[in-house]
Amino acid sequence: MAQASAAATDTSPLQCARCQSGTAPSLPPEQVWDGVFDPKHRTIAAGEIWGIRESLIVPIFMLMGVDPTAFLSRPSTTSSTTSSARSWSFTPSAEEIDVAYKKRHAIRPCVLMSDHAPTDEECDICLLATFRGTKRREELLEIFQYVCFPIYPHVLSANGVHLHFTPEWENDCTWLMAYRFSSKRPLKKPIRSRDVGNGEATIKADADVLAQIDTLSRECYQLWQSKCADDPETLPRCLQGFRRFHERANAGRR
Ligand SMILES: [Zn+2]
Repeated sequence: MAQASAAATDTSPLQCARCQSGTAPSLPPEQVWDGVFDPKHRTIAAGEIWGIRESLIVPIFMLMGVDPTAFLSRPSTTSSTTSSARSWSFTPSAEEIDVAYKKRHAIRPCVLMSDHAPTDEECDICLLATFRGTKRREELLEIFQYVCFPIYPHVLSANGVHLHFTPEWENDCTWLMAYRFSSKRPLKKPIRSRDVGNGEATIKADADVLAQIDTLSRECYQLWQSKCADDPETLPRCLQGFRRFHERANAGRR
């Protein structure tokens, strides 16, 4: 599972400098919000956390190499589940998935993985998710276990990898989905913390954390590919579980 890849970049609470110091780095002035509404046309800096109308299914379809049209149009059976996975090395585009998935996505937070200029048609992101408050890795769907890492103050164990934002994230059940992808969905608004004295500040992943996310993203993808190559049952099993998750999520919206 993802713990194997995480070992190389492990930062346990005891070893994590940020947890040890108990203090967050000081905020650069440009991160403190001056109370003026954000200009729509500004370059968004890499690391900023924004809300975006994007779905968790997009990175998961991409990771699993699923044909979204086949997946979304067929009933839940083992044979259709297997046939809707072209192969673990196929990657549909976010646009291909959007065409097949016609529902309106909810707004969820994401980390901007590179600077985003007003003229850019796509944004380079990793999504964040809470999975309705699920805190334990073993309670996540198997496919999510390959790519999810907790955002502090969500910490799994004494030797578990976790990531810090600045200012710190405010709830204790948020996961980073370490799958970096390009989305054509518009970024809606920056996510700010009010826990910074009298003002508000845009929450960011600092440069070292961005580098860590990028490394985790590549490691998780490689781990998933090697797992699928070693065990042919992995993809159909994960796909079947994901189909049930997707159907339950849709039923919940009705
Ligand atoms: Zn820490």
